[in-house]
Amino acid sequence: MTWKISNSELSQQALLNMESLFALGNGYLGVRGNFEEGYGPSMSTIRGTYLNAFHDIIEIPYGEKLFAFPDTQQKLVNNIDAQTVLVYLDDEPEPFRLDHGTISAHERHLHMDKGYAERKVQWTSPSGKEIRLTFRRLVSFTRRELFAIQLQLEPVNFNGRVRIVSTVNGNVKNYTNPNDPRVGAGHAERMTVIDAGVRGQDGYVIDETMASKLRAACVTRHRLEGSGAQVQLEARSGEVLFTASFPLSGPVTLTKYNMYADSLRHGSDLVEEGIRLHERLQDLSFEDLVAEQTRYLDNYWKSADVTIRNDDRLQEGIRFNLFQLLQSAGRDKYSNISAKGLSGEGYEGHYFWDTEIYMFPVFLMTQPDIARQLLLYRYAALDQARARAREMGHKQGALYPWRTISGTECSSFFPSGTAQYHISADIAYSYIQYYLAEQDQDFLLSYGAEVLIETARLWADIGHYYNGAFHIDEVTGPDEYTCCVNNNYYTNVMAKHNLKWAAKSCSILQDYDAEGYKALCDRLGVTDAEIAAWAKAADAMLLPYDETLGINPQDDTFLRKAVWDFENTPEDKYPLLLHYHPLTIYRYQVCKQADTVLAHFLLEDEQDFETIRRSYDYYEGITTHDSSLSSCIFSIMASKIGNMDKAYEYFIETARLDLDNTHGNTKDGLHMANMGGTWMSIVYGFAGMRIKENGLSLSPAIPKDWEQYAFRLNFRGRLIGVSIEKSGVTIELVEGEPLEIKLYEELVDLASGQPVKRPLKG
Ligand code: BGC
Repeated sequence: MTWKISNSELSQQALLNMESLFALGNGYLGVRGNFEEGYGPSMSTIRGTYLNAFHDIIEIPYGEKLFAFPDTQQKLVNNIDAQTVLVYLDDEPEPFRLDHGTISAHERHLHMDKGYAERKVQWTSPSGKEIRLTFRRLVSFTRRELFAIQLQLEPVNFNGRVRIVSTVNGNVKNYTNPNDPRVGAGHAERMTVIDAGVRGQDGYVIDETMASKLRAACVTRHRLEGSGAQVQLEARSGEVLFTASFPLSGPVTLTKYNMYADSLRHGSDLVEEGIRLHERLQDLSFEDLVAEQTRYLDNYWKSADVTIRNDDRLQEGIRFNLFQLLQSAGRDKYSNISAKGLSGEGYEGHYFWDTEIYMFPVFLMTQPDIARQLLLYRYAALDQARARAREMGHKQGALYPWRTISGTECSSFFPSGTAQYHISADIAYSYIQYYLAEQDQDFLLSYGAEVLIETARLWADIGHYYNGAFHIDEVTGPDEYTCCVNNNYYTNVMAKHNLKWAAKSCSILQDYDAEGYKALCDRLGVTDAEIAAWAKAADAMLLPYDETLGINPQDDTFLRKAVWDFENTPEDKYPLLLHYHPLTIYRYQVCKQADTVLAHFLLEDEQDFETIRRSYDYYEGITTHDSSLSSCIFSIMASKIGNMDKAYEYFIETARLDLDNTHGNTKDGLHMANMGGTWMSIVYGFAGMRIKENGLSLSPAIPKDWEQYAFRLNFRGRLIGVSIEKSGVTIELVEGEPLEIKLYEELVDLASGQPVKRPLKG
């Protein structure tokens, strides 16, 4: 049961949410869970198909445009729509649709072990003809361009003619909502049809974006079985139509194979490329494709699955989140993971720090190859980050954009956009974590060190010494309710780590490959004096501390501000960002999300336990969790300070956030960072996993409502199984060479066939 998400609701709100929940994707191509036949004119829909990173460029309109505000931004475009399949019965003027006639059965399922979605309907037309329809669809994990739909149609009480019309439509628009800053406000129409036509058995549509001039094509082939029908394929007005008309006396199956290609990745003859991909597909049936998906997913779940015994709702939640992460992660140098994955248009398909801090860890420990790809995307954007740093007045270094697709800054509201300089340290942090987990010196030499060096240079440039301490002024930390401050604790401590590791990676590489290291230094102009300056700045970094409260203030002036009047803020005024001017919010001690608390998680050795505990209590009292990136961090840190009940409460909020639409905007796409956060709450939180220079450590506990939970970790070429129950923890080496890890305070040796068992502590 917990391998599938099921739903049969048909209300407007439910249908919009299900479009996101039943979205299918493979990191390249994403299709929302729309109905093939639509909902009819009385219902709204966000019909969407996306190619990761496939974007248009739009001008940013400013009332007052100041220096170095970005002129343009990128926007993920809604792509050619191949979802439509209509079924007409005999003399009925309207096709099969659920807003007329009678529905006697309707159910839909997302199969997370087999990688396809399914919808079964039994329906009687207004004139009494009853049919059964099963739609199945998948976006292939192993053939990235393929989106396939299968329709099985059966008569129940009727014997007559049927007409099936399946279309590929290039006339597409983006969804907009001018009243919600989390969705695009305008620029709905960004694609124009260049060509729609027929070549042999294939219909194709080519679209082009208005400004970026990127092209996408969808080349579609149909296979109809069981009908002996005459089939017609024609193109008109930017659309390809496949029509089949036949007497329906028994089951008929239509399979629609859609191949997407785009000019970023597939060269210039996209139709030719689509046809070539079809030829390679040969005669694979939908069932064959499901078998391929299942094999791929067996392999994924082998390392990624997390099991929670006797709690089906949470089990479903964690699997769903892991499945959606896999569906969303870009696997090439053009693409990354957008805040909503490929499930919707919220945040316009932009990539944020969400990737490095919330999602990258999941891939690092379960699918290191995908983790590596995510790093390579940032490496590919390094030159743009260098250019942005210059534009922002820095003489050296690289400043990564707060939100982007193709590498340039897309944020038009700098206080909670460009000012979030921490993104550069977050990216550096993910490279460091990769090194610690994989110990891949070659990768460090070829890519990692350069990113660490260039981001360290940014901190060296923006920071300055004052009274002997290194200060960083006028930045915004993760908490977007407090902007443009001096010495944000999170930013400073992350910058410190960045600087320290830039210096450290130089000495690692010097030992590993002196020649390669020298070539790198020559290329980047790194000198010993510069390395020493990074180490010095790291040592001297100001980390704000308040003696009276015994906590780390979020920044220099945070604790001086009045505390927000929570008591007199009605429930319906949350999230605050939709109800108060930013300046009102900035004037108070109120946090949208974990900031210092997050820093205490990522770099826990920078403070003593009591400071971390007191800070947790303090910030918990003033955090609204208006961002979905917050609860998981509070869960992890509640685990750390030993408050398992709290940890569990926060975890529950993350585990089913989208399945239960608790933030009210699942229709705009899934909250991907939170999905990574669910996994982190279990693995870093309950199980206390950490990766540091001395290797992998665990410090497991179990929520009181649970009997047992288990997960696996990829670490330095090993696969490690961890199972935790009330009576104790069992760790086993599933694959790979023996390894020493730390369990609580003890060093234990893991070797194949020799599980280590210990009682739980604390
Ligand atoms: C959060 C940011 C996050 C962005 C995209 C905002 O609401 O405050 O931290 O990066 O959403 O998910």
